[in-house]
Amino acid sequence: MKNLERWYYPKSIPEALELLAEGGGKVKVIGGGTALAESRSPDIVALVDITRIDALQHATVEGDGRCTLGAVLTAHHLAEWLNAPPVVARTLCKAAGTISHRMHRNVITLGGNIVQLYAWSDLPVALLALDAVCVLQSAKNGTRRLPIRKLTTVHPAKELLFHEMLTQVEIPALPARSGGTFVKFARTETDYAFATVAARVDLDGDGVVSDCRIVVGCAVPRPVRLEALEAMVTGQDPSPGLAAEVGSRVGTHIRPLGDFRASAAYRAELCSVLVKRALLECFDQVVGVAAIERGEGA
Ligand SMILES: Cc1cc2nc3c(=O)[nH]c(=O)nc-3n(C[C@H](O)[C@H](O)[C@H](O)COP(=O)(O)OP(=O)(O)OC[C@H]3O[C@@H](n4cnc5c(N)ncnc54)[C@H](O)[C@@H]3O)c2cc1C
Repeated sequence: MKNLERWYYPKSIPEALELLAEGGGKVKVIGGGTALAESRSPDIVALVDITRIDALQHATVEGDGRCTLGAVLTAHHLAEWLNAPPVVARTLCKAAGTISHRMHRNVITLGGNIVQLYAWSDLPVALLALDAVCVLQSAKNGTRRLPIRKLTTVHPAKELLFHEMLTQVEIPALPARSGGTFVKFARTETDYAFATVAARVDLDGDGVVSDCRIVVGCAVPRPVRLEALEAMVTGQDPSPGLAAEVGSRVGTHIRPLGDFRASAAYRAELCSVLVKRALLECFDQVVGVAAIERGEGA
């Protein structure tokens, strides 16, 4: 950013949006700055630091469990969010708590982690399992809501217009009998992961799985939902056998990355194990695997 000339601290969302619209693509939002700090772009002339805008700091839960999260909440804030509904706590908050180390978590923002999507970005994996919706605002076009799934299919940076800002993430209410988790495998606690998996399982009144999400991250370029495997789980009674069967099929539904840290084959195997563990954990939350094994069912 050798041509950086100005750094703005707007106090409100409209003020920030005006700055972006006037900037014609040469003015960028900065959240935690952990990714932007590495930018070598000569085109950026000004940064709009949105971390002091009060209207972007909220973490609220409605009576029915719907959540709205301001874009500048930090990973640390999310990891320590005591009021989070249980499934959100076990997926999103858990994922936030696994990001890098405490000093990074203190500054990395929810919005930045989503918009600057890397293979290792943890929050979008959890948000996909929660069917989250991103709210984008612009001084030119008003507000639009995009499911995180749409935003991550290509890349959020390509989907967002230069004058748009991600202001909020919405998580819909989940059924009462819903279980979820986020699991990560990395060499050390602070290292980039080899693979991550987020899963969610909803049960209907008869104890049958009514909906399921299985998301793989990190082992693939962008987080991906394994819909064919989700369909295998939906309509079934939760059981350890089902978790094992679904896990064993993961390798045929992903094309893992391979590099000097881990081969594609290793990552495929790892994802199989993580998916099995994640499903078992979800099943355990909704019915108790021990109960299933004793033949007590749901
Ligand atoms: C050593 C290291 C290890 C890391 N390990 C992990 C890890 O294990 N897991 C993980 O998930 N992350 C990890 N991260 C963080 C990740 O790589 C990104 O740096 C981080 O998510 C970016 O968030 P930020 O708030 O700092 O964004 P910034 O750097 O401020 O911004 C990134 C980009 O997003 C845009 N942007 C930011 N906020 C908004 C918004 N609200 N609306 C529109 N555009 C916006 C900016 O304009 C910029 O283009 C690590 C980072 C480092 C440096």
